[in-house]
Amino acid sequence: MQGIKDKFPHLPEKISGLRELAYNLWWSWHPEGRALFKLLNRRGWYLSNHNPVKMINRMDRGTLEAATSDVHFMRHYDYVMARFESYMNPSIGWFCSRVAQPEKCRIAYFSAEYGLHHALPFYAGGLGFLAGDFLKECSDLGLPLVAVGFMYPQGYLRQMISPDGWQVGACEMLDRENAPIRKMLDQNGDPITIKVPVMDPPIYLEVWMVQVGKTSLYLIDTSSEANEPWNRVISDRLYTGDLEQRLRQEIVLGIGGVCILRHLGVDYSVLHCNEGHPAFAILERIREKVEGGASYADASQQVRSTTVFTTHTPVPAGHDVFSYQLMDKYFGSYLPTLDLSRDELFRLGMNPARPEGFNMTAFALRCSAYRNAVSKKHGEVSRKMWQPLWPELALDKVPIEHITNGVHVPTWIDRRLGDVIFNRYLGRTWLEEHDQPAIWQLIDEIPDSVLWEHHRFMKEMAIAKIRERARNKWRQSGSDPNNVMASGVLLDPAALTLGFARRFASYKRPTLLLQDIARLTRIVSDPWRPVQIIFAGKAHQDDLQSKQLLQQVFNAAKDQAFGGRIAFVEDYDELLAQYLVHGVDVWVNNPLPPMEASGTSGMKATLNGVPQLSVLDGWWIEGYNGKNGWAVQGAGEGPDRDARDAAAIYDLLEKDIVPLFYDVDEDGVSHGWAAVMKEAIKMTGPGFSARRMAKEYTERFYRKALEAAMKTDSGGERGSAKGDMFGGI
Ligand SMILES: *Cc1c(COP(=O)(O)O)cnc(C)c1O
Repeated sequence: MQGIKDKFPHLPEKISGLRELAYNLWWSWHPEGRALFKLLNRRGWYLSNHNPVKMINRMDRGTLEAATSDVHFMRHYDYVMARFESYMNPSIGWFCSRVAQPEKCRIAYFSAEYGLHHALPFYAGGLGFLAGDFLKECSDLGLPLVAVGFMYPQGYLRQMISPDGWQVGACEMLDRENAPIRKMLDQNGDPITIKVPVMDPPIYLEVWMVQVGKTSLYLIDTSSEANEPWNRVISDRLYTGDLEQRLRQEIVLGIGGVCILRHLGVDYSVLHCNEGHPAFAILERIREKVEGGASYADASQQVRSTTVFTTHTPVPAGHDVFSYQLMDKYFGSYLPTLDLSRDELFRLGMNPARPEGFNMTAFALRCSAYRNAVSKKHGEVSRKMWQPLWPELALDKVPIEHITNGVHVPTWIDRRLGDVIFNRYLGRTWLEEHDQPAIWQLIDEIPDSVLWEHHRFMKEMAIAKIRERARNKWRQSGSDPNNVMASGVLLDPAALTLGFARRFASYKRPTLLLQDIARLTRIVSDPWRPVQIIFAGKAHQDDLQSKQLLQQVFNAAKDQAFGGRIAFVEDYDELLAQYLVHGVDVWVNNPLPPMEASGTSGMKATLNGVPQLSVLDGWWIEGYNGKNGWAVQGAGEGPDRDARDAAAIYDLLEKDIVPLFYDVDEDGVSHGWAAVMKEAIKMTGPGFSARRMAKEYTERFYRKALEAAMKTDSGGERGSAKGDMFGGI
């Protein structure tokens, strides 16, 4: 691997630990890590958009030298490095401390996207953040996991909105030198290059690594000069609309990914495919075993018993289906090495309900022993959708379970809320024990005024950030003043603030709140009890319909009739998400049921005491308890469903939400509101954390899959040892 010693040649020896630290995203979810970089160079931290690699690259040696003689800084440095080193101890953590030989229990996790930090734009939305949060949590739990994904050099769509409200964003090239990623090199210092089988002409992969605490994430890069020009762009962008290119991407991710782990000598016993995109990894694992002398039947049985598959898509059209013709083109020469006929392969990927092509989800479902959806409701929807694969089974016996998604608490909790308020009222160990329900009962000990004041401050911060973006935009690009108005300059920290921020996809119904303009105008413009709405989100570049929805929202934000009480904030990313989930008063979610498999942004909000107003879909069916937010009782099917759902939301706003928020006592606090905030927080910690989720994957799936792997490795003999092996979990 590329020596980390080559990085930051100007870094003084006394603080050389910053190399390891800057290249490990550990800092991103440990406030003391972020604070250290901020202390080193407050302005640089801000200008680098909280990216320590970029910040240190831009600092000169003199400034760095000066830091080494700053007693205050050095004290922090020593403290943070000690914390970091003890965190990185491989034998510490929930999993390692309970399992006999944790190093033999490695899981390989494959996903097409990862949302880890805004400095690494390898995500489109929820699927990516789910994967990113999962990697962080596995690191915290000491679960030995390696991950594989794509390096999208053009991953980042910088969103800009034209004066007529059209998204005209451009893809921004990732600045690799200044990102916390490292290229993997061989002994001679050349990039390691791996040839993907299957592809003709061949494709060569280079590999980058991101260190996520103890978890290594390998990112595939196809931009090597050794590739034909049209192959260099395979990993350029997430989710291209071109099906052939998409198939090539998925071959590179799944098959190429397995080749990379093999090349790097990474041993693992269990494969976890996050969504169908990487499912060809299953084939390559089988091929490895066939090459090693196993029959196809044995190899596929072994692989199946050690494969976990998570589906995320309740929409039939959301699953990748490749034509048989395309499959022939790419798999013709691969199949013989598998000892598998064309018909057999195609049968594995056949969806009887839509037999027109090779369905990646059907394939993954058939080839994994452990399958899950991502919420209770999504489990039901998935069993129904995939019942044709198990025609002999009753609907409730279709073998797709559910493990509800969760969010990584240290990543999404506001630092002040966690370090100051929770530390005081929940005890200093709350974060280590945050999946214990008992701890969260202590939330009731927090005085209402403390929570209310804290939240008011967070709201002011969020609005200040939004105004700062608007100001910069006006200053830099001299934008149309109406556009500047639309981006939130008139937001008022005293007004009840709703937030709606997520990918603009039509099933998420971003324009639902605009259904009845007259009624909405009355709600937002009430002079005594005003309401404001902050919208943010990107449309996929090739999705005209979503761009039109975005345009509608933007035009509403520009509309004088709303008096600046509706804002559209450009360029939604992880950083803006942080401000919004900490700082708005109500998180709005109104997808078209049952299209939201889970949804996770609402969990980030409720964790911070921002209750959700949501249609009963996805995780909210499990989360809502009548006291911790508001549920829009779905209107049910029908042509005017949108109008009826919108009316239900306006009703809730007019009758419940607005009156409760403004029902302020003499002490300036709405105690009724604080009670809802507390209920929201109490529900999230134990129920919807990534910790609960990762433990469930371990206890329900990984454990059994690892046992199956050990059984095959030992020829089925030492079966009796397995009980002890996982006795602790
Ligand atoms: C959490 C998150 C998402 C996912 O939100 P959903 O509620 O699942 O739509 C998307 N984008 C960003 C930036 C996020 O942080």
